[in-house]
Amino acid sequence: MQDGKICNRCGRELDFWDVQEDFTIHRHIGYGSVHDGDIVNLHLCCDCFDKIVDECKVSPVEEVGV
Ligand SMILES: [Zn+2]
Repeated sequence: MQDGKICNRCGRELDFWDVQEDFTIHRHIGYGSVHDGDIVNLHLCCDCFDKIVDECKVSPVEEVGV
């Protein structure tokens, strides 16, 4: 297990489940962002992921029927 990962949004250290879910965005940023040309390396905990999903007007979550 990798350690030292923290949630970029709330600053909390990622626990086992957060790492397991791995809400990570790592990519080079292109045009259209103020961070144009930079590298983004974003980690999120489950709580922050849920909050971000809730804030979306169009949900990125596809519900899978159980
Ligand atoms: Zn968080």
